[in-house]
Amino acid sequence: MSDNSFHPPLRTLMGPGPSDVPSRILEALGWPTIGHLDPAFVGLMDEIKSLLQYAFQTESQLTMPISAPGSAGMEACFVNLVEPGDKVIVCQNGVFGGRMKENVERCGGQAVMVMDDWGKPVDPGKVGDALKANSNAKLVAFVHAETSTGAQSDAKTLVELAHKHNCLAIVDAVTSLGGTELRVDEWGIDAVYSGTQKCLSCVPGISPVSFSERAQHRIANRGHRVQSWFLDMNLIMAYWGGDAKRAYHHTAPVNAMYALHESLLMLREEGLENAWQRHYRNHLALRAGLEAMGLTFIVDEAARLPQLNAVTIPAGADDAEVRTRLLEEHHLEIGAGLGELAGKVWRIGLMGYASRVENITRCLGALDAVLSDMGAGINSGAALPAAEQVLSGS
Ligand SMILES: *Cc1c(COP(=O)(O)O)cnc(C)c1O
Repeated sequence: MSDNSFHPPLRTLMGPGPSDVPSRILEALGWPTIGHLDPAFVGLMDEIKSLLQYAFQTESQLTMPISAPGSAGMEACFVNLVEPGDKVIVCQNGVFGGRMKENVERCGGQAVMVMDDWGKPVDPGKVGDALKANSNAKLVAFVHAETSTGAQSDAKTLVELAHKHNCLAIVDAVTSLGGTELRVDEWGIDAVYSGTQKCLSCVPGISPVSFSERAQHRIANRGHRVQSWFLDMNLIMAYWGGDAKRAYHHTAPVNAMYALHESLLMLREEGLENAWQRHYRNHLALRAGLEAMGLTFIVDEAARLPQLNAVTIPAGADDAEVRTRLLEEHHLEIGAGLGELAGKVWRIGLMGYASRVENITRCLGALDAVLSDMGAGINSGAALPAAEQVLSGS
């Protein structure tokens, strides 16, 4: 056992999350803790709710942060909306769709899988066929931004399809919120969850969620009690809810909420559309550099996520050794491939505060140095000029 306090090394976080947290948000974390029912904290909760409504582009009153990571937001959507025996169309084109299936089954529901190749977006044609073949389905669930592959699916079209067949739509927006266009009300999304550690650049451990009026109606009229006590929205509402007096449900992570508030404020100051554009512009510069180096993107351009760049590992490069050297010599974290893509790709995140020019040049410079030194098959020295050309043009 050590008697020393822990001092983390300084890293640049360009993986699939957590992403770089700016000092302004870290400072907010260090403000004095107050009671979670203190009137000042209750005021903060109201502000967080309205900032989240802005971030999600929704007017829904049932919009709040769950006091646990993105996976808990996922679980909150499923346990509240799936009842035993319910049929759910689950789209899978990467790791996270597989977790949705797990959730449906653990709720006693039946998952009807619509499978697409990893790296491809969800195919609305297949979803339409599944809906026609399963006219008693209650829900459609899909991942908007599949962080395991870097593919973006057409949420608007998929939600429309779900509604056409009298289904509600559950959407995983963990990696899309704050990074790419997401319009919860306009697109009619019924249940959406996200995470704080991706494009919001906040500390990990909180999951913003929002439910439409249709979803709220279904939750209020369930035949079975929600099997999770902690995630039962009927109970959480009494704590985070509208005008009623706040009742104790659990102790909110008070300081993490300060941080979330600050990160949402920063998003509001920048403007949502500006944040989306920044993610896209920076992606174009990183992409120019990676391609000039000789790496290839695994996702077709039309479905590529600007905040998650999945590229193939060049010949002659040892996956784990490259990532270790980036971390040890350049203090830079990039992501490994997940699941089917393990050992085949790197996932380079440009999420939230990590999506900025100095990170692009830092990442390209470090990759070029390590790969050249290893004798991997890349065009040494080509990446930075290519990225700089894009940056100076914009
Ligand atoms: C990161 C992520 C999650 C899980 O979030 P945690 O905060 O790690 O629990 C879920 N879905 C997607 C698409 C993600 O990228």
